[in-house]
Amino acid sequence: MDNVYDVIIIGAGPAGLSAGLYAGRSLLKTLIIEKITEGGQIVSSSIIENYPGSIEDESGFSLIERMVNQVKSFNTEIVKDNIIEIDLSSNIKKIKCLKETYYAESIILALGASPRKIGCKGEEDYIGKGVSFCATCDGAFFRGLDIYVIGGGDSAVEEALFLTKFGKKVTIVHRRDTLRATKNLQRRAFNHEKIDFIWDSVVEEVKGDGLEANGLVLRNIKTGELTEIKASEEDKAIGIFVFIGLDPNTGILEDKIDMKNGYVIGDEDMKTNIEGVFVAGDCKYKSIRQVVTAVSDGAIAAINAEKFLDTKKE
Ligand code: NAP
Repeated sequence: MDNVYDVIIIGAGPAGLSAGLYAGRSLLKTLIIEKITEGGQIVSSSIIENYPGSIEDESGFSLIERMVNQVKSFNTEIVKDNIIEIDLSSNIKKIKCLKETYYAESIILALGASPRKIGCKGEEDYIGKGVSFCATCDGAFFRGLDIYVIGGGDSAVEEALFLTKFGKKVTIVHRRDTLRATKNLQRRAFNHEKIDFIWDSVVEEVKGDGLEANGLVLRNIKTGELTEIKASEEDKAIGIFVFIGLDPNTGILEDKIDMKNGYVIGDEDMKTNIEGVFVAGDCKYKSIRQVVTAVSDGAIAAINAEKFLDTKKE
């Protein structure tokens, strides 16, 4: 059958593409299924400084573009399709998508993770009208305005630095008084003349005039005090960029595989509790989530998928 693959990789982020490269290069019949577009989370990163061998001014987009070309050169197929149902229980795994149903001897789960929402009043109403989860995509819309970045991790601080290109001022709103981001990013943010901080605070509400966001209500978690931030009379709008962590894209796997806190459990060989099913990248239960660890997971998963297929044939 044409649609039975040696390996099907679910997700075309760094982990999936790396797995696709290794599997394709091992001459395995390999398919990557991607729901939206190649790259996952990383395409929204404005600058990649810590991926070994990155070219000058490397962005998430440029890195992924080169990865995709490399993967395709080894005959790994990439299809855009939306998975409706996945059956990992039999020897041949079945993936039912909107357009097609695919079968595989082995599977690599590289589903990634998505930006977490604040969940406060007004957030949903102003997504795309002032509230954004992607500085590269939307930063330019807020040229000359005040920008608020919510979060204190690597993403928040890295993207706040990027947003100084556009914003009149960039204010990082963090729920504690110490940043989680790496020391190098912290140093750059603390030294940046356009970056300010609001500590110990969370967003209670996003306000706006129906067309664009123009205010925030913050709650100081130590004192309980509420503060309202408003756009100036002349600006009339503010930018709000939310980087408060990620949620794994594993809904489709619920009750089908061992997971912890929504992340798929895998060992150091990327093996899950199901024979022939491997996991790689941000959807794996682990402590470090970087592009470099995702591509490493992908390579290990593909090498072990190949070993699994070899033993299956014996
Ligand atoms: P993260 O490391 O999980 O940080 C999330 C931040 O948001 C934390 O500061 C957290 O506060 C805060 N937060 C969480 N929930 C919140 C809520 N409900 N309200 C307000 N604040 C909230 O997430 P991330 O920065 O998106 O990074 C995800 C992963 O990608 C991490 O492993 C990170 O190292 C990696 N990453 C790496 C790079 C890089 O290496 N250049 C760049 C971006 C991301 P607390 O600190 O109080 O928990």
